[in-house]
Amino acid sequence: MTEVAWNPLYGAPVYPAERYAALTRRVSGILKTNNDVLLVQAEAVVALEAVATSLARPGLSVLNIVTSPYGNWFGQWLRRGGTHVVDIVAQPGLPIELDAITVALDINPNVSVMALVHAESASGILNPLPEIIALAKARSIVTIVDAVASVGGHSLDVDALGIDIAVIGPQKALGGPAGVSALSVSRHAWELVLHDDAPRDSILSLADLKAWVDAGRGVLPGTPAPLEFFALEASLDQVEAEGLAQIIARHEKAASASRAGLTALGTSLWVPAGQGSNLVTTVLLPSELGSASVIAFAAGLGVELTPGVGAGLSHLMRINHTGARASFPTVLANVVAYGAALRRAGFPANIGAASEAVTKSYGG
Ligand SMILES: *Cc1c(COP(=O)(O)O)cnc(C)c1O
Repeated sequence: MTEVAWNPLYGAPVYPAERYAALTRRVSGILKTNNDVLLVQAEAVVALEAVATSLARPGLSVLNIVTSPYGNWFGQWLRRGGTHVVDIVAQPGLPIELDAITVALDINPNVSVMALVHAESASGILNPLPEIIALAKARSIVTIVDAVASVGGHSLDVDALGIDIAVIGPQKALGGPAGVSALSVSRHAWELVLHDDAPRDSILSLADLKAWVDAGRGVLPGTPAPLEFFALEASLDQVEAEGLAQIIARHEKAASASRAGLTALGTSLWVPAGQGSNLVTTVLLPSELGSASVIAFAAGLGVELTPGVGAGLSHLMRINHTGARASFPTVLANVVAYGAALRRAGFPANIGAASEAVTKSYGG
């Protein structure tokens, strides 16, 4: 008879029921909120679908700000439930303009909910969150912010700004697991969510999670996957040990060093200064150069570069400095590999000046 070995990957003990409430308190600290914090046992895109599905209904009018495929998906989920959705779409790979929001709100006075992504990992833009939330608050509009990419990369002060629903995941700037996510829900948002036809008995039901909150936040409905919650706990330990402010500062430095290095290389940054995220920097590829050859060349050096994600962005190169990548070695390697790929293809690139610029940004 063969002996069956115990394996911690599938033989993990159940996650202790009394520790879920502590997880939500720690997430509240990251979001700086006293609103209810809910845990969703799935990747963040499921939490976003749960928000849209739980809000959606005929008669509801939502202004949906689209700056990447995530915004398109959010609008689709709302429409599926009969919601009247007004999309406003930014120029490809650029933040939304405040004037476009004001005009849309003036034309659509029935809008009672607004949705947007804070920072985009797809294109490297940062939407002007405080200004956008202020526009919504002035009209008592409930705000939904996809902060999955931005949390840990940018300051996100949910209560000070007055964000009604903020959705986050630990797997981007916070460097945690991908199979669990969280959101905060204000009283104003609950008033919209908790209606008679709200979905219940569903992984997409916020009403079910409200019942979990009201019952004291013990074991989540369903069968929680213990590894994800142990991993979330361990990643929160790391976040608290480094300090959220320091994590954000590390991403700011990675972004400014990347921008300085890529500029010194002689390349064109896609997103104007002040509108870029701290997570990803995008550069415009020379028009005769395809992204595939650049990616393959960088991969040969052990550096991962990726193309722009979304309609009209295939001419961009995405240089990722999120999470553990927000560090001097990765930022330097990214810039040098991109420069070497350009040179290899016959384009000028000042790798020496770029290395100097990155090093100088890091105080060297
Ligand atoms: C990563 C990300 C998500 C969630 O995507 P997952 O596939 O669930 O990890 C949602 N919104 C934005 C803006 C993101 O960057």
